[in-house]
Amino acid sequence: MPNFSALAKRGSFKQLTTSIPPQSPVAWSNLITGMNAGGHGIFDFIHRDPKTLQPYFSTSRVEPPRRGIHLGNWFIPLGSGTAEQLRHGKAFWETLDDYGIPNTIFRIPANFPPVKAKGFTLSGMGTPDLRGTYGTFTFYTDDSLSTAGAVEGGEILSVQVENSQVHANLIGPDNTFRKGSPPATEPFTVSVDPLDPVAKIELQDQKVILKEGEWSDWINVEFQLIPFIGNVRGICRFYLKQAHPRFELYVSPVNIDPAAPALPISTPKNYSHELSEEAGEFYTQGISEDTKALSAGVLDDKEYLEQARTVLAEHRRIFDVEFPKFKKGVFFFYFSSLDLNSHMFWRLIDPKHPQYDTTRAAEYGSTLPDFYQQIDQVLGEVMGRLDDHTTLLVLSDHGFAPYYRSFNLNTWLLNNGYITLKSGGSSSNEAFANVDWSRTRAYGLGLNGLYINLRGRERQGIVEPGAQADALLKEIKHKLLAVRDLQSNLAAITRIDRASDAYQGPYAQQGPDLLVGYNRGYRAGRQTILGNFPVDIFEDNTNPWSGDHCMDYTLVPGVLLSNRTIDASNPSLTDIAPTIFAQFGITQPDGMMGRSVFSSTH
Ligand SMILES: [Zn+2]
Repeated sequence: MPNFSALAKRGSFKQLTTSIPPQSPVAWSNLITGMNAGGHGIFDFIHRDPKTLQPYFSTSRVEPPRRGIHLGNWFIPLGSGTAEQLRHGKAFWETLDDYGIPNTIFRIPANFPPVKAKGFTLSGMGTPDLRGTYGTFTFYTDDSLSTAGAVEGGEILSVQVENSQVHANLIGPDNTFRKGSPPATEPFTVSVDPLDPVAKIELQDQKVILKEGEWSDWINVEFQLIPFIGNVRGICRFYLKQAHPRFELYVSPVNIDPAAPALPISTPKNYSHELSEEAGEFYTQGISEDTKALSAGVLDDKEYLEQARTVLAEHRRIFDVEFPKFKKGVFFFYFSSLDLNSHMFWRLIDPKHPQYDTTRAAEYGSTLPDFYQQIDQVLGEVMGRLDDHTTLLVLSDHGFAPYYRSFNLNTWLLNNGYITLKSGGSSSNEAFANVDWSRTRAYGLGLNGLYINLRGRERQGIVEPGAQADALLKEIKHKLLAVRDLQSNLAAITRIDRASDAYQGPYAQQGPDLLVGYNRGYRAGRQTILGNFPVDIFEDNTNPWSGDHCMDYTLVPGVLLSNRTIDASNPSLTDIAPTIFAQFGITQPDGMMGRSVFSSTH
């Protein structure tokens, strides 16, 4: 990484303290607002409503219109649906706007829908696909052995090839105009060549011919909600995995079309349209890399890698269009590749990983370094254009570590008597379906959160606030820090923070009571995160999602590089907004915790 080395040598290269917990929505909100979760209210990917104990995604809420008139099968909405940003606190670019400083903020996480702004912003992580999910791919197959149905992040649909043709439906958003809100669908036809591994896809007025193993460009699709009135546009990509003997077709999540967005994704409103004109269509869904399709086995390593490379290619294309326009003010650009691909390819660079495989490592072990080198090339472009009056900051919101083993926090709480289940409960997968709340004192939710079942806060809270809650938190913390994984004899948890110590600000009381910091190699298991109880406390991580950072925040710091000398000895994410303000002589707004990492202004 010659450009990173040169920058480190010429300027500064330091560790950057990440957020508690070190999850992207929390970390980026720290950077965006200059406050911790007590100030911006984002504590985890997943929050819970203390009254219903139902989990929900923390950063935004998309709601269909609530009131309307039923007319036969149709529901005519009064007013439109809404998307609401749940992060609190003022974003640093809103302050820049106040001072008339031009800015472009490209795909910063935790900004959907984008806050009102005068500058150019495009939303990133947290932006839903057209169905309102965080990405639902579809896999059409005639293999009767593969189980049709929902998988995490996708849907497998069985189809039949008859006379070399497949008739199938593309699934769109729930049609809130129709009674019962069934999903809108659009039919498409695939004609499979009887001899050659080639197929022709026809959707609306478009025809695409794909060879086996080939991806389509973006295909436009318009879903009719109410004929001629309430249509929405999306874009998707087709991948012909196999023509025959089996028919296998992957379709990407239907993304919000940046040329005609169904939900707000940019400021000004037509910015996403202009970008698509200048740089071509692009993924608009928050996490664009289809890690779920790889985890589900629908895409293999090679196929996922092609998809992930497309995402970076799109970002580089947009960067090449946008960066030369930057003359003054602030230009921020987010690249997702290092985060998502470290998640997926850690297993091929780490021989200690339970899924390490020598053959695959030989084939794909250089994948992750390749992504780093591409980002290095981008830095080279930036440095080549930089003048002496411009401050450059390059940073990551957290570091990375292996994810070898899962810790099922709720199972541990159950086995240690903090949670009691109802006898003969149902086998429902709903969060905490079988929990007897009248005999439960604490529960885990989200990737790092542990909550007390507190009287007056939780609907059936039994733990008295004050001394009783305090003693319980101390007891649980003490016991959790002593837990050893018998397989490795390592501590599973190396740090636990009390919310009352970690958070300052108006929302400090709204998050978890304890922030569980897992040891390097450990993370909360997928089921415990959503309030379920696998049998074992520890499990090997068998998912391709093999690297992670939702751990003890001191073990996964980010990095900060600059072309100037960084004077702060322990810079932190909350220092970035104050650093930006200091560059323009802007007085630091009240409530911001950090300070500029440079001792003098430029
Ligand atoms: Zn990540």
